[in-house]
Amino acid sequence: MRMKKQSKQRRRNRRKGLLAFVIVLLLVVWGGVKLPLVFTESVEEAAFGSTALYRSKTVDNALMRTGDLILVNGGYAYDFEQAETKYPIASLKNDSYQVKNDEISLNKKTIKQFNALFRAFERHTGHNNVSIISAYRDYAYQESVLNDYISSYGYDTAMDYVAMPGFSEHHTGLAADIAVADEAGETETFTGEDEYAFVGENAWKYGFINRYPADKTGVTGIANEPWHYRYVGKAHAYVMREKGMCLEEYEEYLRNFTFGQSCLSVNIHGDDYKIYYIPAGEGSTRLQVPLFGRYTVSGNNMDGFIVTV
Ligand SMILES: [Zn+2]
Repeated sequence: MRMKKQSKQRRRNRRKGLLAFVIVLLLVVWGGVKLPLVFTESVEEAAFGSTALYRSKTVDNALMRTGDLILVNGGYAYDFEQAETKYPIASLKNDSYQVKNDEISLNKKTIKQFNALFRAFERHTGHNNVSIISAYRDYAYQESVLNDYISSYGYDTAMDYVAMPGFSEHHTGLAADIAVADEAGETETFTGEDEYAFVGENAWKYGFINRYPADKTGVTGIANEPWHYRYVGKAHAYVMREKGMCLEEYEEYLRNFTFGQSCLSVNIHGDDYKIYYIPAGEGSTRLQVPLFGRYTVSGNNMDGFIVTV
């Protein structure tokens, strides 16, 4: 009886082994085409190539105030009328990081990407103690943050770190401040050092940039903030990292790439992206978008649109 059971078990194991082997074989054969490209990353300034497979699409200029690439800084206010729906992070997050309370909210896609970034960080370091301590802020909340800062640290320091209400990137739902939590839930400033450097080094893979780096304070108008991350999308985060540009510089750079003339050609692990800029028209804008395939359009919140194919 026992022998019989054992041989049955052996047969079952053999069948399982065979199944696993076939699955792996299928994966190799199927994925084989892409294999040589797996670790390639590149960015090139390229001629546009054929424009025959594009169509035009007219959009209202109000849309210039929306999208993953909007620039919100001391010079460009956020348009609350174009706001995306915000979701409490606590309701959509995974268990690889923490959030300070149940009210803290972001755009859905931003939360999804934080889930992936912090899951990767947890896998790499074993830590799940990064905590989001501030994310979406409405106008009144930004006002209270600024006033608190002024009373704690004085006017000048507040001006270095805190944007005026209406001009904060925290209005977009695309940005968050992170910290490091201890067992008791107390948080310490996120400096991005030691094991936590993983976050800064890998954030681009999930579409994030460290928005206010130490060497760009003269351009951003904000002091070095290693804790402030902003979602822009993977291809854009990659180019900014490659070129050492902050968002202000990148938006300026993108003006060199116009439809039909030239584009930024980005390859990340076998995925090709084509990026170009279209200046806004009067009241509305004719965008050129591909007939087939996926693309996204974002306003720059200044004077035009960026198409990512
Ligand atoms: Zn911030």
